[in-house]
Amino acid sequence: MKRRDILKGLSLLPLSGGVMGGVLASESVFAEPPAPTRDLFKELGVTRVINAGVTMTFLSGSLMMPEVLEAINSTSHDFANMYELQDKVGAKMAEMLQCEAAMVTSGAACALLLGTAAAITGTDQEKIKLLPNLPGPRPEVIMQKTHRYLFDQAITTTGARIIEVEGNDEMEKAFNSNTVLALFFNAAGSSSVTREDFIAICKKHQIPSFIDAAADVPPVENLFKYQKMGFDLVTFSGGKMIRGPQSAGLLFGRKDLIEAAKLNHSPHEAPIGRPMKVNKEEIFGMYAALKSYLERDHKKEWQGWLDRISRIKSQVETIATVKGETHVDPGPANAFPSLHLTWDQQKVKTTPKDVLDQLKNGTPSIVANGDDKVLSIGVVLLRPDQVNIVARRVKEILSKAV
Ligand SMILES: *Cc1c(COP(=O)(O)O)cnc(C)c1O
Repeated sequence: MKRRDILKGLSLLPLSGGVMGGVLASESVFAEPPAPTRDLFKELGVTRVINAGVTMTFLSGSLMMPEVLEAINSTSHDFANMYELQDKVGAKMAEMLQCEAAMVTSGAACALLLGTAAAITGTDQEKIKLLPNLPGPRPEVIMQKTHRYLFDQAITTTGARIIEVEGNDEMEKAFNSNTVLALFFNAAGSSSVTREDFIAICKKHQIPSFIDAAADVPPVENLFKYQKMGFDLVTFSGGKMIRGPQSAGLLFGRKDLIEAAKLNHSPHEAPIGRPMKVNKEEIFGMYAALKSYLERDHKKEWQGWLDRISRIKSQVETIATVKGETHVDPGPANAFPSLHLTWDQQKVKTTPKDVLDQLKNGTPSIVANGDDKVLSIGVVLLRPDQVNIVARRVKEILSKAV
């Protein structure tokens, strides 16, 4: 038996069943849970959760594609030089993303930090060593006022401060000798500077532009769109809809900046990115996830989501006054369909909030979303076998309120 085969036999058994074999041809591909040899959820008393929502870090993001699990398993039995691995995976991903250079980070938040660090230090070893405590005035990162968000703490962690601007004129005036970078939050509710103007103004001042598009696939085209537009750096989360490792992400764009970002990251011993290490298996896994995502039949996957919505809708609409509607989030974040349920609360005497509580506290525990009027059932993160479970539970809860 070849060594390769032994490794395969050891680790991939759970993946070789029906999921890969086309039984679920119209469904998104999910790995079958392993045979219950050792149930670590049970051993530790951790609740299994069905995610009828969107990718949320507190709920462990997304489920890795079977290809990703295979990459992790099959690469975990040998050592590799981490510089070589990051370089080779980066080169391949850059080719796939049609850009100069790419790297795997520990999530998009890490990419924000490393991209900023790269813009501050370049390849200057002294600066890399001193970050975040550079002598002199603090480096400045330009952002639109309406683009400020929780994740920009990853920017200021480098010691940089954020300069808020509104409109092209203010942005023009904000550049000075301390400016190192300008960040665009792709999913911001509103923008006073368009993407095109933002890029043009940055180019005029020879300052790199960076776009955070962490949650912004589908559509798959977004993985190419922003570097083509002219952004110097782009980040996407690895562990959202790309379904790579939850603790991995992509940083890509200009070669000199990616090289500088790598110098600020593990496996180098000292730099600011060292505590944000990505292990060998996850680097391989992120590569496998990206490849799989780019090769996926996105139309078929979308249709599969719509089919799931129809299945759940037809079951719960058997209750009088309950209405289901397919809602497609306009994006750019989470731009996929979900099922919006409403009902006459005089007839079905419960509120979406109450249903959410019951779903969450029931067995199995199901997490969905909603507000006072609408119960939103997400379908994109459900395993195929969970679609009917969710439909049944929602129906059960609503029926009891009639
Ligand atoms: C999720 C998200 C992040 C953080 O991404 P991680 O991969 O979890 O680090 C950053 N920015 C935006 C806009 C996000 O949606």
